[in-house]
Formats: sequence, structure tokens, C-alpha cells
Amino acid sequence: MISRGNAFAAHLRDPSSFTVALSLTSHFDTAPVHNAGLADGVQAWFISGSRTVEGGPTPPELAAMVLDGGGEPVVTVPLADRDRERVLSDLHEYRGMGVRNLLLVTGDYPREEEEGRTPFFDIDSVQLLMLLREAHGADIEIFRDFFKGVVVSPFKKLEEELLWQYAKLERKVEAGADFIVSQAGFDARAWDEVVRFVRNAGLQRPVMGNVFVPDLATARRIADGLVPGLAVPPALLEKIASEERRGAEGRRETLLRAAKSMAVLRGLGYDGALLGGRLSGGDVGFVLEEAESFSSRWMECLEETTFSEERFTCFQPGAGGLNSDELRPVPPQKRPGVMYLFSHFVDYVAFGSWKPFFRLLTSISFFCDRRPFWYRVLWIVEYVSKRPPYGCRMCGDCTLYACGFLCYESWCPKRMLNGPCGGSVDGFCEVHPGKKKCFWVRVYEELKGTAERPGFVSPPIPPRNRSLDGTCSWINFCLRRDHRKFRR
Ligand code: SF4
Ligand code: SF4
Repeated sequence: MISRGNAFAAHLRDPSSFTVALSLTSHFDTAPVHNAGLADGVQAWFISGSRTVEGGPTPPELAAMVLDGGGEPVVTVPLADRDRERVLSDLHEYRGMGVRNLLLVTGDYPREEEEGRTPFFDIDSVQLLMLLREAHGADIEIFRDFFKGVVVSPFKKLEEELLWQYAKLERKVEAGADFIVSQAGFDARAWDEVVRFVRNAGLQRPVMGNVFVPDLATARRIADGLVPGLAVPPALLEKIASEERRGAEGRRETLLRAAKSMAVLRGLGYDGALLGGRLSGGDVGFVLEEAESFSSRWMECLEETTFSEERFTCFQPGAGGLNSDELRPVPPQKRPGVMYLFSHFVDYVAFGSWKPFFRLLTSISFFCDRRPFWYRVLWIVEYVSKRPPYGCRMCGDCTLYACGFLCYESWCPKRMLNGPCGGSVDGFCEVHPGKKKCFWVRVYEELKGTAERPGFVSPPIPPRNRSLDGTCSWINFCLRRDHRKFRR
């Protein structure tokens, strides 16, 4: 294992410096690695976790190229289509090469046209952080020094989406995230919201903004909804089209906007910026130089770098079109739904603090667990009572209590148990845009009956024990086999 100082982490943690990183490849851009190379003034190189160009270098090859050039790679670790064993084995490989920085992301749901891929989501980013934190034996040495980044998206339109983003960010930090990267977007008020939230919540983690410079083709793909989690407002799309038409002069305007965005991020208190898009070495040099020249006038750049759309904001408006520290009021609490009340009552009586019934259920569980016939009977009773109302798939480790009495197994295509992925669009799931609400939006709606500003009602949920699949969750709970076994 190669051991050396982590220049990127040190730079990002230094409050007197502003860190610049370059995205060498991103998962949604099919461009080859641009020729920015190991440019001066850049402290780290972000690499997509999957090969983005057919026949191009793999992520480990790219990481090796950066390391060979004396640079610091930050490798994106997507969790789509990989089980926990594969993810941890990848991390072993990266660590052996000398990679020290990771960006943990859920990853996109495979599109229909991507044949041969069976959608598969085993763990989420919170659960991976938990696995790394709880590593034991030789793995402690291997995983301890990773500098782990996570993503937050402030560009969500609805209260039901945005507030989960911040709640999940807190959860990620609690689970061991070392730095935060804001999703790419084009709205200075949203950028301000992230650093303000991090500061007010006392998260004490460095934050990087994301300055993405899309070309027209990529901007159109994003505007057409083909890149989950990203949006290009119509006004910006028009601007990019006009800049591309005007050749060199238009290109200069594009790059100046990127430079101004970097200056704004720095002015807002970000610790660094991640620059991405199809940029040459000359482009990067130009953007960095111009960003420096705008740094003292960053407030003047707010208008030019903001393409806002109507959306819920976390804070009340403040000076300069940004935010104040005062939380924005949310609509009042609703009445809980009948199904929620019923489920809550049953949960309280059978599995909660009402001991007599819980003791009885535990005795029944002991009895049935040792007798296959009676096990089957209880299994059928559970299936029949939970399949119609919740769509239960008998995963054997029930989390209804943590998700507003909705079943993530039957509703969320990515099986997100610790808050939403970043892909929802206007409240709808990225996999079924405009047709099916995001699971966590539905959870928020259910919990709105219990609080004005709902949040998580359980501690972070660890990776599922897959050996429980198809078993009776009631027995697993009572006999302490499910994820709650350590908490009672
Ligand atoms: S046991 Fe699993 S599949 Fe069934 S309702 Fe609970 S979470 Fe959903
Ligand atoms: S339901 Fe929500 S969290 Fe789940 S995949 Fe869809 S957008 Fe992501």
C-alpha cells in the first residue's frame, strides 16, 4: 500500500485556502478525458467511477495516470449495480494504488435502453459510510484514511424533496462523511443555501461547489431530463445555444461565466470548487485566472451566474438576492392519514413499548421458529396482512416504522432506506418521471401528519442482512435478528 500525505484533504481543510478540483470524467458526459492534464492551480482530479468512453481508460487506469503525474485523484464510488462486497473490493484496489479520496454517490438507475443491465441496489451512501466506519481487522488500516465526500442537491423544487436532502446530509456527516460537494446547478441562492445550512447545523465539514460548463449537446440532454438530478433552466439553454453559435467570442462568454461562478462560490464561503465540462488546458487556465480577478467583486457576479426557477427555499430571503439565517416557514402540519394512524397503533401495540403484547408475540415467535409448519402459518399471516396495504415483499427486515409506514421495497426502485437519492424531478421518482411520486416525498407527506417539519424518525439504518430475504420479519424482530437487534 502506498502511503503519503493527502494534499487534497489538507488543502480543503485549510480555511485560508480555496481548493480547485477538475472533473476529468463525469458519468453523464461522453467526452474523452480532456487535455487539461495536471494543470497548475488544481489540487485534485475527480474521476467517474465507471468507464465513460467506450475503449477509454478505466477509472483505476485514470487514477493511476493522475498519481503518476503527482496529482491527487478523487474517485467516485457509484453504488448502482454493485453489491457491498464488490464496492469494498474496489476500495481495496484503490487503496492499494495509493488513492485516498472518494466521492460516494448512489448512481443513476439503468435506463431501459441499456440492455443487459439488471437494476441492482444493495447499499446506499450512508450504509457504505457505516460499513467503512465499522471496518474491523486489517480493513481498519485500509479504510481509515480515506477522505470521503458526499453530495447534496439544493436544486430541488419542493419542500418534500429539499428538506430530505439536508436531513440526509446531516445523516451522512453523522455516519462519517469528511467533505461535501454540492450538486451541479446554476443558482447562487441555492449555492448560498448549502454553505449556510452546513454552518448553521454545525456540520463542520469543508464544502465544494460544482461549476459545470456544459456544451450545447450535454445541456440539451440535461434539459430533456436524460440526466437524473441535474437541470438546465430554459434561459441558460438559450444562452448556451447563442454562445455556441458565436464561436470564439461566445466561448469566451461561457468561460467568463464559469470564472464568475467560481468567484461567487468563494465569496459565499465555499472551501473549494469542482470545475467540470469539456475544457481544454487553456480553458482551465483562463477560468482560474479570471476567477481570481473577479474575487473581490463577486457580489456583482450574482445576477449573471443565477438562472433560478421557482422552488422551495430552506431560508427566508436575505441581502443581495441570497438568504438570511431565518428558516422559511413551511405549511402547517396536516392531519395524519387513517392508514398511518392504524399502522402506528398496531406498531405501538405489537412491537413498541406496550410490553404485554410484545412478550406474547415473542413467545409465539419462539414457538413458531422451531416448528416449520407453524413458521409457515405465521409467515402467511404476515404476508396476507401486509401485502395488500403496503405491497410487502417479505424482505424479512421490516422498516415500515422508519418510513411513514410505507414499504421502500415495493416503492423505491433504488431501495433507498436512509433518505432519497438525488434524482427526483418535481417530486416524482427519476425512474418514473411525471408518473410515480418519489418514495421519500410520500414518506414526507405521511409524516407531515406528525410534525410541521418532518425528519427521520429512526437512527440510520445499516445495510440489510440479505440472508433474511423471504423470511418472517415479525419473528426476526422478536428474536433480534433484524437491523434493530443492537438497539434494545
Ligand atoms: S417486511 Fe420488508 S417488504 Fe415487507 S413491508 Fe416491511 S419493509 Fe416492506
Ligand atoms: S423513489 Fe425517490 S429515492 Fe427512490 S429511486 Fe425514485 S427518486 Fe430516488
